[in-house]
Amino acid sequence: MKVEISRRRFLQGSVALSVVGGTALGTSNILADTKTSEDNKIRPTKKTPTLCEMCVNKCALIAQVRNGVIKKLDPNPLFPKSKNMLCARGDAGIHALYDPDRLKYPLIRSGKRGDGKYRRASWDEAFEYIKEKMVKILDEEKDNRSCIGYCTGEGMAEPTYKEFMSEKFGSSNFINHASICLQTAISGYALTIGGYGMADLDNAKYIIMAGANRAEAILTPDTMDLFKRTRGRGAKLVVVDPRFTNTAIHADTYVPIKVGTDLAFVLALTYVAIKNRLYNREFVEKNFDNFNVYKLHILQQNYTPQWAEKITGVPAETIEKIAYDFMANAPESVYYQGRRSTWAATDFQLRRAQAIFSALGGGIDIKGGIVFGRKLPLDKEEINSPIYANAQERIEKKAAAIIGSSGSWIAWRNMVAQGNTPYPVRGLFVYKQNPMLSVPNVKKTKEMLEKLDLVVVIDTMPSDTAMMADVILPECTYLEREDPIKSFGGIEPAIVLRQKVINPMYESKPVIEIMKGLAKVLNDPLWKNTLKYDGDVQDDTKDMKPDELKKYRKENGFDLEDMYGANQEEMNKKSFVGKYGEEAWKELRAKGVFYPHMKEYFKQIDKNTFEYYPENKKSYSIDKLGEEADPDAYIHDTCINPKEISELRKFFKTPSKKIECYLGNLKKKGIDAMPTWREESYVKIPKGKFKFITGRHAQFTQDATQNNIMLLELMKENYAWINDKEAEKRGIKFGDEIEVTSKIGSVRIKAYPTPKIIPQTLFYIHGFGAKSTGLTFAHRNGASDNEIIEDRIEPVFGSAIMHDTIVDVRKV
Ligand code: SF4
Repeated sequence: MKVEISRRRFLQGSVALSVVGGTALGTSNILADTKTSEDNKIRPTKKTPTLCEMCVNKCALIAQVRNGVIKKLDPNPLFPKSKNMLCARGDAGIHALYDPDRLKYPLIRSGKRGDGKYRRASWDEAFEYIKEKMVKILDEEKDNRSCIGYCTGEGMAEPTYKEFMSEKFGSSNFINHASICLQTAISGYALTIGGYGMADLDNAKYIIMAGANRAEAILTPDTMDLFKRTRGRGAKLVVVDPRFTNTAIHADTYVPIKVGTDLAFVLALTYVAIKNRLYNREFVEKNFDNFNVYKLHILQQNYTPQWAEKITGVPAETIEKIAYDFMANAPESVYYQGRRSTWAATDFQLRRAQAIFSALGGGIDIKGGIVFGRKLPLDKEEINSPIYANAQERIEKKAAAIIGSSGSWIAWRNMVAQGNTPYPVRGLFVYKQNPMLSVPNVKKTKEMLEKLDLVVVIDTMPSDTAMMADVILPECTYLEREDPIKSFGGIEPAIVLRQKVINPMYESKPVIEIMKGLAKVLNDPLWKNTLKYDGDVQDDTKDMKPDELKKYRKENGFDLEDMYGANQEEMNKKSFVGKYGEEAWKELRAKGVFYPHMKEYFKQIDKNTFEYYPENKKSYSIDKLGEEADPDAYIHDTCINPKEISELRKFFKTPSKKIECYLGNLKKKGIDAMPTWREESYVKIPKGKFKFITGRHAQFTQDATQNNIMLLELMKENYAWINDKEAEKRGIKFGDEIEVTSKIGSVRIKAYPTPKIIPQTLFYIHGFGAKSTGLTFAHRNGASDNEIIEDRIEPVFGSAIMHDTIVDVRKV
């Protein structure tokens, strides 16, 4: 990354923290820059409770600040979700703040797109640049707001950005992480049992964890619970995975399985449970819809353990034993739902099959099974959204059976890259996402970004995607801002606050301020454009006097700035105080966490064990919650909009709350109404080749932590796992460079030959291989998985299939 700065300003010292030519100044300089003239005095340490953002878990922490510098992050024991724990990434959050490569001020591209040449700009200049481009595009596209797309990753400020782009600016082309993440898992459960819920690992007696590497892939405090409490009290753990992972080390039974065959495994478990009448007949009778149809389907298709053995490589007797043991421990048995991405084309059906199998034991909405919990309500401010007659529906609406408001990344990207869109898509706003690393087939993402007239990236770091932007807007980190207040549902619900610990460094701003700035510059010019092209507005406002027109604009939501009357802190207060009062608000700000009766309920049991709710106040079952239950709370809120699937499920709409074995409405869309194994959907591995799988590591959160020097100390680059015997045949030894080639690309990476992965399978973790020269520490360390993962989508939600790419491996 090259930032052009004048010699004069350099000598004035005003850009002392700039990244120039890819070299960065040391951390000590950064800390020095935060000092004031008074800083030689030692001041008392100030402690501010806030929330971590180094991954999606949002653990509560207390930041220690002295002389304006954050010295340490400690866990906050009050939050039931994080139970007085911060993981390695949480501790390393300080480096997210003081990373010398951070984006410090707005940048405008001065070279060709992708060559990394930028000039420093003021915020006014950057907003003006964006305004001019947008006004021109929207004039040429006759006020079709959807010609500017926008995307984001998960985060507490995501709604702030989304609300502006969707509700006020008015584009339908939104894409978030769902289709490259949890979409099929969330939706499979939501459409089958009414919600994704959470596995009550604290109370389960028998847990099947398939392809979920909790011990290292998502090392959150509740993961620690799994190993500390669940295993400590003797619960049985079965791990099903092509790799002998750090989770498998803790298992009572480790089951290696061929990649992409989990559906056959679950269907065979179901066969054993049904054939041998092991299931909870009373629960099934009361709660299942179309059970007899499903039963007949499983038996007629002959999904026997012997049939599954040939597909999965799992011995029939192992399948039989697991089915028996699971049902013997039911209802305190959990088939862990799984997180992360879609593995194969059948992923949605896999999650449905898992949900139905769990439900056969009666372990739904019950202690020790899959529970839905409860959420504490907050008041929500209504947004006065305008209706733009010329804004068209999202471009990839027909790419799969159900494309919801979070879209299909691959389908959307490919349509834009190929110029195959129903109307021109000419711009993209990117917030807190890095599609150049996170979406399969990097070349196509680059092609798509190259086609656009305007790319704006809002980020804290100069990511690979930022290097493709016309304008880069520096967001401040989570330690420098207040985010929208958050209510966490669960067995022990709580409300938490991410508060600003120190003022934003350099010229960075919170996203709410960035959206406010955009609203201000776009407000009048875009209104004029709407008046010029919007037939409905023209009919409504014909012959209106200026005062009437002004009133009409305000009343109908066309004033883009009207949502920013209050700052984030005031908005949070408003959402909270109406329900819980002023005193509770003060308590929340002081402690960072609130739930009714917290003072009375919260107890320290021993050095590091806490009680948050008495056992009889925990929300294991929504059945017992009566009117307090909020159906929206059962759905994982970042991946699915309950309204979009309401027509497809009956759960919570009927008094019987049925578990859906047969989805007739999906059949009408060409999707199997019941989980069915389809040989034609399974990608076979040709002789001598490998199937590529990807995953995560405990110390890294996707690519968000890729430049964090504290974490890179623990692991500098990723290595490719290859079965040791396969490696030997090819003369590959530990640390040798290998080339991995798929149909769409090729990478070079160091090899890790090991017996811990089954033959014909290759694995390396996601989040490495950045090419941005602005990232001093992450630049070209290891390989990016999405350079080689083919861009194929599954048929239900258009989610990216991550585990069906065939690769060749050769020693370099
Ligand atoms: S699990 Fe770790 S990284 Fe994630 S929020 Fe908690 S402390 Fe932060």
